Amino acid sequence: MIARDLFEERTELRQLVRDFTRKEIVPHLDQWERDGELPRELHKKAAALGLLGIGHEDGDLIDSLTVTEEIIQAGGSSGVIAGLFTHGIAIPHILDAGSPDLVERFAKPAMAGNLIGSLAVTEPDGGSDVAAIQTRAVRDGDHYVVNGTKTYITSGCRADFVTTAVRTGEPGYKGVSLLVIEKGTPGFTVQRKLEKMGWHCSDTAELSFVDVKVPARNLVGEENAGFALIMRQFQVERVTMAVEAYATAQRCLDLTVGWTRMRQTFGRPLITRQVVSHKLAEMAQRIDLARTYTREVAVRVMRGEECTAEVCFAKNAAVDACSFVVDAAVQLHGGFGYMRDAEVERHYRDARILGIGGGANEVMTELAARRLGYTE
Ligand SMILES: Cc1cc2nc3c(=O)[nH]c(=O)nc-3n(C[C@H](O)[C@H](O)[C@H](O)COP(=O)(O)OP(=O)(O)OC[C@H]3O[C@@H](n4cnc5c(N)ncnc54)[C@H](O)[C@@H]3O)c2cc1C
Repeated sequence: MIARDLFEERTELRQLVRDFTRKEIVPHLDQWERDGELPRELHKKAAALGLLGIGHEDGDLIDSLTVTEEIIQAGGSSGVIAGLFTHGIAIPHILDAGSPDLVERFAKPAMAGNLIGSLAVTEPDGGSDVAAIQTRAVRDGDHYVVNGTKTYITSGCRADFVTTAVRTGEPGYKGVSLLVIEKGTPGFTVQRKLEKMGWHCSDTAELSFVDVKVPARNLVGEENAGFALIMRQFQVERVTMAVEAYATAQRCLDLTVGWTRMRQTFGRPLITRQVVSHKLAEMAQRIDLARTYTREVAVRVMRGEECTAEVCFAKNAAVDACSFVVDAAVQLHGGFGYMRDAEVERHYRDARILGIGGGANEVMTELAARRLGYTE
């Protein structure tokens, strides 16, 4: 079965997600963008339909990517995906290598929509070089004492727990561990809620840790084995971001086709101009190439095949397609495309992060080059 069929055959799931998005997300999204965060009830509603457990306790990677596609294409956004599915980057390490106790206390309640989790890797001095993190965790009896700062943390303002990358050992990747740090632990504070270009409905925080005593049982897996855990999960995060990119582009294309059929200039609908219809065709072409390739790579990731370079290609290709399409969509909407009332305006701003987060474009290319042996 080809990848497209594997994605398209999930018709019931698609319908469920489309209905959920149109009823529970679209009517409220503008307000959430103004609020700067998603309400907790949304997590509970999504969990009640089983959507937060997909890809973890139910279904497979294709199911979870299908949910991402449909939420965006039905009028949601990549910002909604970031805020509602943050547990998707916060709990996989716990499910992969954490103790049953951590699974019970954090992963399961997050999938039930009762707890919000974040993943904190990035620090003010850098995010691309994960092996260089400086936040320290020093073992003291049955606790670790944590000191440091994390920044740009998605859902960090609301998070009940934060899966935090800390340095427990030597400099470099061999000294990194993951610790789950709970809200309310003395010394752990949300330093700032950060204001951003896009993803307004998804809160982003700077987090401060000053002599925070974290129980040693909150260590995920082995001490100093955190880097490999983080890297393993990046594959899924990056494929998901590639899907966010082509789905955002598809949504913008759909909106732009509708707009150019309706909008008249010089006595004719825009779409009747060849330059416009060709632009729409080019948008469709770039989306289809990105979608076809990304889906193929997603199937390989799901099967556990080694395809690190291809994941990098998929993310970069989908981000390129998305950048082109959101720009063209705003252009063809004219002045309205620049207005906050236009959905394409939001996607234009939201899309900018996709080539930075989860591994910037250049970092993806560098990783692919190394995997392919194009290094000295
Ligand atoms: C809205 C938002 C949400 C985020 N959510 C989270 C989160 O939940 N958890 C988390 O831990 N982090 C999160 N991040 C952080 C994100 O992962 C980092 O911003 C990203 O990894 C880049 O790190 P940096 O910003 O420190 O950029 P830097 O590492 O300083 O790099 C700056 C730029 O330099 C270029 N560059 C970097 N390295 C190279 C290289 N080797 N060769 C060539 N060029 C290079 C790239 O263009 C890069 O964008 C989020 C960021 C944003 C903006």
